[in-house]
Amino acid sequence: MTGWLAVAGLGPGDENMVTPEVRAALADATDVIGYFPYVARVAPRPGLSLHGSDNRVEIDRAGHALRLASEGARVVIVSSGDPGVFAMASALFEALEKRPDLHHLDIRILPGITAMLAAAAHTGAPLGHDFCAINLSDNLKPWPLVEKRLRLAAQADFAMGFYNPRSASRPHQFTRTLEILREECGPDRLITFARAVSTPDERIQTVTLAEATPEMADMRTVVLVGNSATRRVGRFVYTPRSAE
Ligand code: SAH
Repeated sequence: MTGWLAVAGLGPGDENMVTPEVRAALADATDVIGYFPYVARVAPRPGLSLHGSDNRVEIDRAGHALRLASEGARVVIVSSGDPGVFAMASALFEALEKRPDLHHLDIRILPGITAMLAAAAHTGAPLGHDFCAINLSDNLKPWPLVEKRLRLAAQADFAMGFYNPRSASRPHQFTRTLEILREECGPDRLITFARAVSTPDERIQTVTLAEATPEMADMRTVVLVGNSATRRVGRFVYTPRSAE
């Protein structure tokens, strides 16, 4: 038996946004591993073991996947969106660094549609010029580093996408984020709150920084901030392709 391991992105929610490549890997897998709600998106079938685990156990999960694949299993680790964006692909390589004996394994990373790009598409083209992505969670980095990156990105006039903007355990940090953005970008800059994109609960709301409140974001929201040229056209928001 030849085992393999794929780290796959399931996209933002809609089944139509799962790539054919990811579908094929799931159809051929013996084991699916990941955070419970993502594993729940994979249909059970005979011959497939589903291993849901809690959040924040990424390295254990990656170790488990490597072990199964080395024993001959065909394993898919699932992430939402894209597996390389604040997700499992890096966790897998961290685990692999510690296991040189497994470097020969058949490992593939299968891209998916990340939340920021799905949200941008449903808003218009707010990321049409240079942009960056920032994870606002301080689980894996100190908060002062988040503040520094925010300020420098705003000063460089990047459009921005924020992942993990606000959770019950750290509500004050998004309040602080809005204060920093108002300082750096002024009150009229457009900000889009895109919640549960591509699911039946999707809600997309664009306001100015002056109108934005922390409650507009939660953990199912990706936040997009325009650059200085971002503007509305009809019901859409777009950023021109050239700096002006
Ligand atoms: N790998 C994922 C991101 C994981 S971090 C990706 O590429 O999309 C989890 C964060 O992603 C959430 O807190 C939220 O900010 C964002 N997110 C994931 N799915 C989303 C969706 N359907 N709509 C809006 N934001 C989403």
